[in-house]
Amino acid sequence: MTATQSRLSEPLAKVLGARTAGGLAKLGLETVEDLLRHYPRRYGSPGELTPIGALASGEHVTVMARVRTAQVRSMRSRGGAMLKAVVTDGADTLQLTFFAKRPGVLRMHESKLKPGSTGLFTGTVGDYRGRRQLTHPDYLIVGLDAADEDEAVFEASRPIPIYPAAAAVPTWRIGRSVRTVLDPLTESDVLDPIPAAVRNERGLPTLLQAMRHVHVPAEEADWQRGRDRLRFEEALVLQTALARRRAAREALAAVPRASRADGLRADLDARLPFPLTGSQRDVGETIAADLARSTPMLRLLQGDVGAGKTVVALRAMLQVVDAGGQAALLAPTEVLAAQHLRTLEQLMGPLAHGGMLGGADRATRLTLLTGSQGSKARRAALAEAASGVAGIVVGTHALLSEGVQFADLGLVVVDEQHRFGVEQRDALRARSDHPPHMLVMTATPIPRTVAMTVFGDLETSLLTEKPAHRADVATHVVPADNDAWLARAWARVREEVDAGRRVYVVCPRIDADDDAVHDAQDAADTVADPEGAAGEHDGALLDVAAESRGAARAPLASVAQTAALLAERPELAGVRIGMMHGRLSAEDKDAAMAAFAGGDAPVLVSTTVIEVGVDVADATMMVILDAERFGISQLHQLRGRVGRGSLPSVCLLVSRAPEGTAARDRLAALASTTDGFVLAEKDLELRREGDVLGSAQSGGRNSLRLLRVVRDAAVIDDARAIARAIVAEDPSLDRNPALASAIDTWLGEDRESFLERG
Ligand code: ADP
Ligand code: MG
Repeated sequence: MTATQSRLSEPLAKVLGARTAGGLAKLGLETVEDLLRHYPRRYGSPGELTPIGALASGEHVTVMARVRTAQVRSMRSRGGAMLKAVVTDGADTLQLTFFAKRPGVLRMHESKLKPGSTGLFTGTVGDYRGRRQLTHPDYLIVGLDAADEDEAVFEASRPIPIYPAAAAVPTWRIGRSVRTVLDPLTESDVLDPIPAAVRNERGLPTLLQAMRHVHVPAEEADWQRGRDRLRFEEALVLQTALARRRAAREALAAVPRASRADGLRADLDARLPFPLTGSQRDVGETIAADLARSTPMLRLLQGDVGAGKTVVALRAMLQVVDAGGQAALLAPTEVLAAQHLRTLEQLMGPLAHGGMLGGADRATRLTLLTGSQGSKARRAALAEAASGVAGIVVGTHALLSEGVQFADLGLVVVDEQHRFGVEQRDALRARSDHPPHMLVMTATPIPRTVAMTVFGDLETSLLTEKPAHRADVATHVVPADNDAWLARAWARVREEVDAGRRVYVVCPRIDADDDAVHDAQDAADTVADPEGAAGEHDGALLDVAAESRGAARAPLASVAQTAALLAERPELAGVRIGMMHGRLSAEDKDAAMAAFAGGDAPVLVSTTVIEVGVDVADATMMVILDAERFGISQLHQLRGRVGRGSLPSVCLLVSRAPEGTAARDRLAALASTTDGFVLAEKDLELRREGDVLGSAQSGGRNSLRLLRVVRDAAVIDDARAIARAIVAEDPSLDRNPALASAIDTWLGEDRESFLERG
């Protein structure tokens, strides 16, 4: 480490003293750089210089005045300490008040506010027992903070940085600390991650200049300029990290799996019961070309629910089998893995019966491998994978981490988990010198800007077209407190059942003991991770308590209670009602799905375990209880379980959320469109932007601070082009050490693996 670098990495305790550093540590700020990267949240306007006699309560003002008295005292009644000062402009007096837990904290003010000294005091005018006062004013003392009155006036006319603060560390103290560490720094202390050439070309300030601009602006234009440059820097660091990953991946060698005109894939095409959509065909060609290359494919396939991703995956897998390799299809849950197996079996028919009676000449074998299999079945499946007899192995994501052996794994398809972790990818890479090609599929529409930021090293394809004859799903919001509407809803369920169809009823909880209200932060993470809720567990929910405060808060509907309730409803007399949730054993889940699909129990009360991928063509109705508890993309996923055949379908969102709340707006958005991409954009609008990248991204020392993926698309685009050029010229970043170290220290290990999830 160079001497200059050590300036920024110095611990705050060393520069500011243990007490101040201790407070800042509560905000997660440990080093000089941490503090300098703690940017103001906004800027207060400097107060007009006002005579004390003209001060009006509530106004934000600055007064020039002389200190008459200043004294710290303990407050017996309330505990804690208080500093009271009286200042005067010669005509009138004004009181200044500071509070603290201990008198010691206030001594610093007391020592500066010496009677007789002159200063500028900025704050909002309050009233205390008829006297005007400023509480915790910002101030500048002439002779201490400023050389003379002119300088003091200039200082006071600057925009006032307002920092993200904590009770123990008010914004003005952060500001002072920033000045203490920032003022003595020189250009050579601060290495700039943005290469000088790029900076010059764009007329960007240096990092140190930008720090001064945002922390100590002389005027509004300053902080804007500084902030723009820091924002660009974030984008550049991020995109360079991604460009480097991409380059590293492209340097790896995969086994090319060229397509054949006379293989299983061609046989499948010949027996498909439907023509491929144009989208399926186009994406299929792209993937076929990827697979034929000797660099490993890493492609994200986005397609709304029902767009027909499975068949695209199957064609890719068969191309690999045709080329002598094996493919693995990974589902997020065992239920889905089992379903995929059935679907593939059906699509392939005799093509899946290799070595069996009735198999086609060129058949291969489909094998299911899950954790809940009996040991005998599992041993057989493992043997088929290891020997290469199984051309396609279907399982859950655990399949790879468990180190299942393949004879020649050529392609891994990951279904419904676009955040497929870096661990799994690395595990795959580590397995052999030739990493398999990878296709990641998701129904979650990822806005382009998000894809670019988070998934910058993946290629993306889109299934834009839906198979023809797909009926739309009519969606309605039903107020939970309207008994007549509810009765009508259950009667409608009965009509569907009588017509031979299936109905899902979705609840946020399993039973009354199930505390389904999880951390709102997790649950708000729906765009980036709808599957967070779709593992073998039953979903995190939004805590909309704040929004529905005032409304009576009945407990959330649970699967157990709802099933019991429906059994009693006269409308549903004689209808068998099934139950489904994450706590059931794998066999019970299978049995429940089978009874539902087969029509024995045509109403299925379930948690969100059915959220992703479950495919029952006769399901034409879904009733979602306490719908306001689910995020937009989760509701969209759920709704995707109906309207899968050509039968018109309906989705009822039963909700207690009052009109005009954000929760109600989400439901209205759902009701207005079934276009997942429109909804994803809507979701971004309705949510705090920090949530877009997942909760990992908010707060913390390593997060994106200024960059917003939606707003800053142009900046990200620009940075990406530059990042790729930099990495192309200097792959190891040896010639851009500051950029390299920004990636290492600023993004950090965790952050980079976060980026990798794709
Ligand atoms: P998803 O993209 O949500 O995974 P699936 O692959 O499960 O969608 O496909 C949904 C349904 O559409 C399945 O029943 C599938 O057989 C059917 N399907 C797929 N492609 C077509 C097509 N080109 N024409 C008609 N139906 C299709
Ligand atoms: Mg699917």
